[in-house]
Amino acid sequence: MSEPLGLFGGTFDPVHYGHLRLAEEAIAHLALGGVRWIPAGQPPHRGPPRVTARQRLEMVRRATTGNPRFSVDAGEVEAAAPSYTVHTLERLRAELGDQQSLVLLVGADAFAGLATWHRWRDIFALAHVAVSHRPGFPVETASLPHELATEFNNRRLTDSGALRLSPAGGIVTFAMTQLAISATQIRKLLANGLSARYLLPDGVLDYIQLHSLYRST
Ligand code: ATP
Repeated sequence: MSEPLGLFGGTFDPVHYGHLRLAEEAIAHLALGGVRWIPAGQPPHRGPPRVTARQRLEMVRRATTGNPRFSVDAGEVEAAAPSYTVHTLERLRAELGDQQSLVLLVGADAFAGLATWHRWRDIFALAHVAVSHRPGFPVETASLPHELATEFNNRRLTDSGALRLSPAGGIVTFAMTQLAISATQIRKLLANGLSARYLLPDGVLDYIQLHSLYRST
């Protein structure tokens, strides 16, 4: 079986170094062949993003360019309908075949909300899930809703090497460099005219400035 492929969805409003380190460290810790970044078009779980889907896609392109293990998938941005992860995984499964190991990458905060996602249980038939630690969000069953905690206990793989042995169905956790960076914090800084430099790549910040994004809260 070929190397597992990481899939990293998010609003990326804007993309920052927390996202980039998550993807980079996932490749190393989970022995992924690469990571496909999938900016959400219309995220169903939250209010509308502050900038357009095209602008968020462009920022992800700028942030990931130059890393041959990263690729960007515009499928959700181009879709007219809301971005449900399960639909994206079905599309990728059809594209990549039944045998490819797929690993959905999520931060601990996103994982804690998984049981509210559309057809969430079907996700495990389509991909593995890898949960990264994030400051302030413990990854432990006590902090998860009951039905998700049950899936977590039943599906947990202690050895990430097992990700390459099956195409889907397991849950792993991995520790990444803890960076308490959030897109919310960056939007607030920019809206207040403060510097967000070194929280996100210069190329993304240049794009934000060029298009006068995030000027108000
Ligand atoms: P916002 O502050 O607008 O909610 P965010 O910074 O959490 O945004 P998202 O685009 O919502 O960014 O996150 C995409 C994915 O990246 C999620 O799975 C989230 O858990 C993860 N993530 C975001 N920031 C970090 C971080 N600093 N460390 C680890 N994971 C992160």
